[in-house]
Amino acid sequence: MSEALMSTYARQDLAFERGEGSYLYTADGRRYLDFASGIAVTALGHSHPHLVAKLQEQVGKLWHTSNLFKIPQQEELGARLVAASFADQAFFCNSGAEACEGSVKIARKYFAAKGQPERWRVITFEGAFHGRTIAMIAAGNNKKYLEGFGHKADGFDQVPLNDLAATKAAIGPETAAIMVEPIQGEGGIREVPSETLRALRQLCDEHGLLLIFDEVQTGMGRTGKLFAHEWSSVTPDIMALAKGLGGGFPVAAILVSKRAGSGISPGTHGTTFGGNLLAMTAGNAVLDVMLAPGFLDQVQQRALRLRQQLAMIADRHPSIIEEVRGQGLLLAVKTRVPNSDLLNELVGQNMVTVSASENTVRLLPPLTVSDAEIGEAVRKLEAACTNLEAKLATKGAA
Ligand SMILES: *Cc1c(COP(=O)(O)O)cnc(C)c1O
Repeated sequence: MSEALMSTYARQDLAFERGEGSYLYTADGRRYLDFASGIAVTALGHSHPHLVAKLQEQVGKLWHTSNLFKIPQQEELGARLVAASFADQAFFCNSGAEACEGSVKIARKYFAAKGQPERWRVITFEGAFHGRTIAMIAAGNNKKYLEGFGHKADGFDQVPLNDLAATKAAIGPETAAIMVEPIQGEGGIREVPSETLRALRQLCDEHGLLLIFDEVQTGMGRTGKLFAHEWSSVTPDIMALAKGLGGGFPVAAILVSKRAGSGISPGTHGTTFGGNLLAMTAGNAVLDVMLAPGFLDQVQQRALRLRQQLAMIADRHPSIIEEVRGQGLLLAVKTRVPNSDLLNELVGQNMVTVSASENTVRLLPPLTVSDAEIGEAVRKLEAACTNLEAKLATKGAA
């Protein structure tokens, strides 16, 4: 343990030296199946040859010039994301929190620019996670993340997830926007039904509000569509993207409709690092792969196979697994034992996963995961459940 690092994380006693596809390798050569993907970040696995080649080419040319100059790679990535989405414009930044907070700023500015600066409040949902800045911990309203950081930032009103009556009741003369994850990630892979997304869109239209989708975790192919909201055919006015966008390189984006972005003019928002040449090269390389014909169909097929196998494991081990959740390769099992027990048991099986709220373990393989690797993950899960059952039995007998 390094005493030179702040203790923000209770880390696994495990470090990796290199990665290839769905596998991570320790310095002493142990191989782990990666169903965490760096928390849904390394969407194309490790050392994807196309990403490596594109970044290697760029790294020897130019890294950073700042947004004081034109960046052709940024214009290209912006145009491609716009072409592939509801949006008319993109803004690039560096993290999910920054994209979420920027989305809120854009919504507030929209109303201010049209003479309604009193409209600044944003409705969010219980269980939400929008990042760790002072404003975004207020948006998420999770006690654990707010405690000890002074007064909660004002401007956010939270209602229970999927509660339309409460959402409607929370709308007032100061409301500017509704912000929602189409599937809550850190909250425990809690899905928002398509009808609810449609109803939120309708509420926004009726009350002249902007709809913000936080697709930081659900976006970039994770659910088998480029963006999760495509499953519902509901479109937002503003969308935050990050995690999978750079395939492991830190990149985030805010996509907006022309109307929603109309309050923004030079000087109103900015970033030093955002959209630099390395980041944009990574983003473009990721899109090269994800937008290739058949890629997302394949994600859907693999996801279906994994989902079916997980349902069978849940049937066979009801004392360990209560429920399978999620869509595409954004999956989780809700456990009856502490979720850390299953996670640690899987580490013992040389497989890494990531926990979430509501006692869940997320299964987030790279979108490039093979059928054979899915089979291997299923065998490891099966073994982990069997081991946990044996432990329960000895505890019961003691
Ligand atoms: C991870 C995440 C964030 C925050 O992203 P950071 O890059 O850690 O700031 C925001 N929203 C959602 C939905 C996320 O999953």
